Amino acid sequence: MSPKPVRVRFAPSPTGDFHVGGARTALFNYLFARHHNGSFILRIEDTDRKRFNPQAMQWLLDGLRYLGLEWDEGPEVGGDYGPYVQSERLDLYRRNCQKLIDNRQAYYCFCTPERLKSVSLERQKQGLDPGYDRHCRNIDFEEAAQKVRDGATYTVRFKIPRDGKVIVKDLIRGEIEFDNAVLRDAVLLKSDGTPTYHLANVIDDHHMEISHILRGDEWVSSLPLHWHLYRAFGWEPPVMAHLPIILNPTGKGKMSKREQRAPDGKILPVFVRTFKELGYLPEALVNYLALLGWSVDDKTEFMTREELIEHFSLERINTSPAAWNYEKLLHFNGHYIRQLSIPELTDRLLPYLSAAGIKSDREKMLRITPLIQERLNVLSEVAEKVDFFFVEQLPDYDPRELIPKKGDVQMALLALQKAAEVLSDIPFTRDQIENVLRESVRSLGLKAGQMFQPVRVAVCGRKVAPPLFQTLEILGPEVALERIRLAIDKLQSQRV
Ligand code: GLU
Repeated sequence: MSPKPVRVRFAPSPTGDFHVGGARTALFNYLFARHHNGSFILRIEDTDRKRFNPQAMQWLLDGLRYLGLEWDEGPEVGGDYGPYVQSERLDLYRRNCQKLIDNRQAYYCFCTPERLKSVSLERQKQGLDPGYDRHCRNIDFEEAAQKVRDGATYTVRFKIPRDGKVIVKDLIRGEIEFDNAVLRDAVLLKSDGTPTYHLANVIDDHHMEISHILRGDEWVSSLPLHWHLYRAFGWEPPVMAHLPIILNPTGKGKMSKREQRAPDGKILPVFVRTFKELGYLPEALVNYLALLGWSVDDKTEFMTREELIEHFSLERINTSPAAWNYEKLLHFNGHYIRQLSIPELTDRLLPYLSAAGIKSDREKMLRITPLIQERLNVLSEVAEKVDFFFVEQLPDYDPRELIPKKGDVQMALLALQKAAEVLSDIPFTRDQIENVLRESVRSLGLKAGQMFQPVRVAVCGRKVAPPLFQTLEILGPEVALERIRLAIDKLQSQRV
């Protein structure tokens, strides 16, 4: 018999922003599917209508596409096992749940929310787990069915065996043992007729012929219930692999679900769309996420998508949690930025310029990009680095910035006047600019910085800027000379 084809799924619940933890789960599923020439399926688990967030679906689809995690089956793509949104599959869950009721493996529960609450309080007082006391488990089946026919409100609960154990095999964690006695008779169908996560998840994984379940460690606690459900239905469970959790950068506690600010005011992103807005390259984020709990050996860091696909294996997933590391991700991002060709990087930078309200043009950016490629950590930084190339007038800056270290107003004036003079009648190329400015440094008896700083601030409006000669060349003689003259006026007219 040939082995079953690999079919894996990413099954998010659209309740909020798309978190990088979820993206890591999606990525591992994607890599595993591609490695085995299998299928990567996207299934939307939206049965919890109270927590449903209508924007979440878009965030998710955009985020997956930004990361290049194209799904083979799922929303907007279709497939033979659809629909891929659980709220469109309710009938399947009800029919299957009915089978469990008919076989007496599940039962009607008529307990009101008030009763459940007081039971759980009472149990907690007695030091028990705040679960359910199985009150309705022993109601005679015919009596219960009659109540349902009479229109009583009910949920359906699963009949967990009262004793014995369940041993579940997990590829990453090994065998995990659970005592049946501590498991609850979980609700399968809610009083509004919709399924709980557990019921829908198990039914779908079976009907979509999922071969392996790779998901976050937080789902381990659901494993025994799912295992019992597979057994009750008479289905073979998929292979299970629970991925280690991701810790905060401090290594303590689970990675934050919300975005916070660092002491310097910078945002600490956790949502995929924030990483995109800040300008992390998908190549970098994918490479970084792949190493969060997996590695090919103990040294290789940079890997292309093709290499990740080639080497990915469940055997090399760690059992211990991995801590998030913003510096390492920035380092990866810088690496991938520097790998890009100038036209490619330029095309990726242009949207960040427009997002910052800068009217740029591609031709000019093709000349500017080489000046900043080495210095960019994230693409959105481009705006603050190149804005002065695209404005007619520089924003007002403090004239004191024009004064070089260990210099005074007179020195700044001298440097700027000289620059205006020597730059005004040369072919305006980088080499010529460099020649005349260096010559001026010598003839005025200044240090290089004492000449270049005033000129840099005059044309860029700040001290930290791209290399000066190329900057001047790109600005062109009219703009450069006008800005130098304005700087001279500034020094002469304002009390500095
Ligand atoms: N809907 C669950 C979630 O939001 C899926 C868990 C699973 O993969 O089974 O993560």
